[in-house]
Amino acid sequence: MPAHRDQSATLLARLEGTACSFCDEGHLVSERDTGTDAVVCAACGTPGARSWTAKPAAADAASALAKSKSD
Ligand SMILES: [Zn+2]
Repeated sequence: MPAHRDQSATLLARLEGTACSFCDEGHLVSERDTGTDAVVCAACGTPGARSWTAKPAAADAASALAKSKSD
């Protein structure tokens, strides 16, 4: 049993599978394709954790939403 995992990893694990707060149908899933541990909404692509752990992601979230809707 891992005695002490990275705190952010634990946070991500908790976030994974939770409902997206930006759309009605999405749930947060692990996203490591970018090389950064994070969770994003499977439906709208909004980052679910970066905004807390790193830089403010409001603009990124807005652009992700816009991109999703334009597809
Ligand atoms: Zn969403």
